[in-house]
Formats: sequence, structure tokens, C-alpha cells
Amino acid sequence: MPQAEGKEKTHIRGSVKKKSLPDAETFSKGILSGDIVLLSRAITLVESTLHSHQELAEAILEKCLPHSGKSIRVGITGIPGVGKSTFIEAFGNHLIDQGRKVAVLTIDPTSQLSRGSILGDKTRMETLSRRKEVFIRPSPSGDSLGGVARKTRETIFLCESAGFDTILVETVGVGQSETAVNSMVDVFLLLLIAGAGDELQGIKRGIMEMADMIAITKADGENIGRANRAKAETISAVHFLPAHESGIHTDVRTCSALTGEGISEIWTEIANFIKTIREKGYLEKKRKEQAKHWLHESVQSILLDDFFSKMGTDFHKAEELVTQGLAGSYQTARKLVQRYKNEDKNLSK
Ligand code: GDP
Repeated sequence: MPQAEGKEKTHIRGSVKKKSLPDAETFSKGILSGDIVLLSRAITLVESTLHSHQELAEAILEKCLPHSGKSIRVGITGIPGVGKSTFIEAFGNHLIDQGRKVAVLTIDPTSQLSRGSILGDKTRMETLSRRKEVFIRPSPSGDSLGGVARKTRETIFLCESAGFDTILVETVGVGQSETAVNSMVDVFLLLLIAGAGDELQGIKRGIMEMADMIAITKADGENIGRANRAKAETISAVHFLPAHESGIHTDVRTCSALTGEGISEIWTEIANFIKTIREKGYLEKKRKEQAKHWLHESVQSILLDDFFSKMGTDFHKAEELVTQGLAGSYQTARKLVQRYKNEDKNLSK
């Protein structure tokens, strides 16, 4: 819905009436009391590109941040077709049966491309989405991966403030998004399919290294034998990977979202993992490092955005020069940045 700066439009009997947005205090109080409508609206503000929305989103986040951090944050990845949404449906339902409140967020790098959203296009998680203890929010779109990831991370804080104690962040295993997800979750689960080679699954060594747990999906019916063989192969593959900083070995198991086999065990394993890393002080350390990482990321992206908004034309001219071999890339970059800094001084006079 297109919105006017700082206002939301309401259609009343054919006329368009501007409705003021609630203030940050109203938003945060509502979110803290578990108001899902206000939570959704706050996330829309986080995702908005309007300056006034961003300011309001920042004020809401500031108020909510002290109340966040109490959930278990689980990253889930795997190639399209591995069974992510079917797994999350079974897993999410199991968690809710255990009395947990679950938020499912997605980071879909393909949603930036004109139409091709791999995660968003189909009707997903039908039985899960009908339950009142769940909150499902698709990937924010129309942004760089870094932008999408930052917004998802902020959405995690808002969901936690609204009382969700388990956050599942799903991403499609095609590219850099795993690294982004890993920088916002406590435990990272990689789903693999039996019978497809590593290359076919696009599983880079880095993703295997990142995974705290690996589950071979679709271990049911005739596929059980293949799933068990894949499990044995994966166990020997992770054996050669460097140990995790936490000192905990990557857990490898099979599961079936269809029969429910292995689903509750994955949760038990995750809960044990969290308990152990919390006791070792590693969870706190990991979250602190993630906060530092995002501070770093954000400074870079704010500076870059500002640079390109002021120096876009000069940059394109410089691109011509360096591609034609008329100037060196580093020297040209240095000159451009110098000009940008001078420009900034002129502007602030
Ligand atoms: P995603 O693209 O990773 O989200 O994968 P989906 O969850 O959409 O699943 C892809 C296909 O695998 C669908 O046809 C599912 O019905 C099927 N599938 C998913 N999980 C299982 C499972 O545990 N067992 C079996 N036999 N099929 C499954």
C-alpha cells in the first residue's frame, strides 16, 4: 500500500483520509503487550524506505530493544526443494505443541530480482499459519541482501519484544544469505537431501562449516536407506571440518516432516545446544560479536549510500576512465573519496 510520508491513508466512502501513525510509545506498549497488528505495522515501518518511517521505526526499536533477546534464534537453510517449508511447518507445529510462541521470518535474496522469489511464491506452511501462536512474515524485498538482512534482524527484536520465544529464520541456500542469517541466529541448521551430491546441492564448504546441525530430510518410505547413507557420509565429511569455536561438534541426523520422525529430537538437540553454549558463555559472546558485526556493516552501508547519492555521476565517469585503462582504480577511488569528503564539508558549511 503506498503511504504518504508519516501518514497512512484510510479509504472512507470513496474519500481518502489521512490517518496519523501512532507514536513510538503507543507502538512499543502495544508490541510489548503482544499486539500483533501493531507488531506488523512496526515491521512495515522497519522495511519502509521513507525517512519519516525509518525515524519512527528507530524510535520503536530503541524502546523495544531492552525487552528483546530472550528467544532462541534458529537459522534454517537448504536448497529449493530440500523441504524447508514442510520442515518448518512440522517443526513449528511441534514447538507450539510444546507451549512455545514461534515467529517465522525469511531472508530471500531472490526477492530482489524482478519476480523470482523462490521462497515467497507458493502457498507455504498452511496448517502452521492457521495457528494463533505463530507469526509468519515473508522476506522484505527490493533491497540489497545487506539491507534485507538488517531489516530481518530488527524484526527479530520486535518479535521477541512481542513475546515470541522461538524465532525461525529461513533462507534459501543459493548464495550469500547464509552468512547473513548466521550473523543473527544462535544456532544454524542445514537441511540436506539424500542422493544429491554436494555439488548439486550447491553446498559450499563454508556453509557446512557454519552449520551447528545438519538434518537429512525426507527420511521416510523407500528413501530411509538413502537418508541413512547420506547421514553416514555427512558425518565423515564434517569430521574433516575445523572445530566450531563453541567446541561442539556438528550434529548430523535424519528427519521426515511427513512422518514426524526426528522432528522432536531436532528440537531437543537445539535446546541442549543452547543450554550448553549459554553455560559456556559462548551464546553471550556470539550475540555481542553479532552486534559488533552489524555496527560495522551499518557504518559501511550508510557511508556507501551517502557516497553514491552525492557522487553517483562522478563515479560513473570514473568507471569509464578505469575501464578504458585511462586511470588506475585505486588512485581514482582515492580522488573520488577526497572529492566526496570536500563536498561534505561544503554541504555542512
Ligand atoms: P523448500 O523449497 O525447501 O521449501 O521445499 P518444500 O518444503 O516445498 O518441499 C519440496 C518437496 O518435497 C514437496 O513436494 C514436499 O511435499 C516434499 N517433501 C518435503 N518434506 C518431505 C518429507 O519429509 N518427506 C517426503 N517424502 N517428501 C517431503
